[in-house]
Amino acid sequence: MAPELRQEDHLGSPHLTPVPRRVLLPAPRSFCAGVERAIEIVERLLEVHGPPVYVRNQIVHNAHVVADLEARGAVFVGELDEVPDDALVVFSAHGVAPAVEREAAARGLDAVDATCPLVAKVHAEAKRAADNGDTVILIGHEGHEEVVGTVGVAPDRTILVDSADAVADLRVPDPAKLTYLSQTTLAVAEVEAIAAALQQRFPAIKGQGAEDICYATSNRQAAVAAVVAEADLVLVVGSANSSNSNRLVELARTAGVPAHLIEDAGAIDPAWLQEAETVAVTAGASAPPRLVDEVVQSLAALGPIEVIERVHTRETQEFLLPQRLRPRTAHPN
Ligand code: SF4
Repeated sequence: MAPELRQEDHLGSPHLTPVPRRVLLPAPRSFCAGVERAIEIVERLLEVHGPPVYVRNQIVHNAHVVADLEARGAVFVGELDEVPDDALVVFSAHGVAPAVEREAAARGLDAVDATCPLVAKVHAEAKRAADNGDTVILIGHEGHEEVVGTVGVAPDRTILVDSADAVADLRVPDPAKLTYLSQTTLAVAEVEAIAAALQQRFPAIKGQGAEDICYATSNRQAAVAAVVAEADLVLVVGSANSSNSNRLVELARTAGVPAHLIEDAGAIDPAWLQEAETVAVTAGASAPPRLVDEVVQSLAALGPIEVIERVHTRETQEFLLPQRLRPRTAHPN
C-alpha cells in the first residue's frame, strides 16, 4: 500500500491524503540504435516494396514490435525454407550464420541484413581469430539467436561457455591458441567473472574482458544499478526472450530488490505494489518507449505518483541504414 500522510483540513478535522508513490525512470532505457535501425529497415522495405516482407526470426525480441510489423505486412518465419523463391527477406538484428547467407544467395532471395553492427563486429572478431588458427571461446547462452549466428561463423573452432564454473571443464585443442568473445547482451559482471576464470586457466588466451557487451546493454545495467538501492520494486518492460531485459531483472534481484519482467502494463500484478513506495521502471533495448509510458500511466491510475527521471548516460549512438535504403541526397547540380 502506498504510504499515507495524515493532515488536517482548514476546519481542523483530520483526513488522510495519500503521499505520492515515487516512480524512478532510469535512463537510458528502451530502444537502442541497433533495434531502431532493424525496425526502420523493415518499415522502409514495406514502404518501398510493399508487403509481404519476410523476416527470418523476430526482427528484435519484442512481441509488440513483431505484432505491429506483422499488422503492416511483415511475415516472420523461422527458416528460409518458409520464404518463397525470389522473395525479399530480412535477417534480424541478432545476426545469422554465414551458412544462412549462403543459402539465401543460392536460393536467389533478395536478402537485407538488419544485423546490429555491434553483433557484426563480434562476427568479424570470431572470423579473424579462427582465420589465425585460434579456437574461439564464446561466452554466451546456448540457443540464443545471436549465439547461434556467432557460433556459425566458425562452427568447428568455437566452444560455448556460459558460466565461470564451466571453465574448469573446458577441453581445448591448444591452450596457446585461444581467443574469447562474448554475446553482446549479457551481464557485465557475469562476463567479467567468466573472462577472469578463462584468463586464470589459460594465461595465453586473448580477449578484452566485457568489451563485446554493447553500449546499450551496459548503459541500461548501469542506469538500473544507480537507482536500485532506492527502489522497493523494479519493473522491467521487455519480452521473455529478450536477453538484455532479463539481465536487468537479475541485476535488481541480485541487489535484493524484487523485480519483474513485464510484457506491458497489463502484466502488472497489483499485489507487487502493496509495499512499494518507490518503483523503478525501465525497459530492455528492444521494448518500445510507449510501453514504459503506459506502465507509468497504470501506476498513476492507482494513486498519485511523482515521476523522477534519473539519467545515468545520454546515448547518441546511431547506425546507418544499409546503402540501398538510405535516402538519396539531391545532386548539387
Ligand atoms: S542491444 Fe546492443 S547489440 Fe543488440 S541491437 Fe541493441 S545495440 Fe545492437
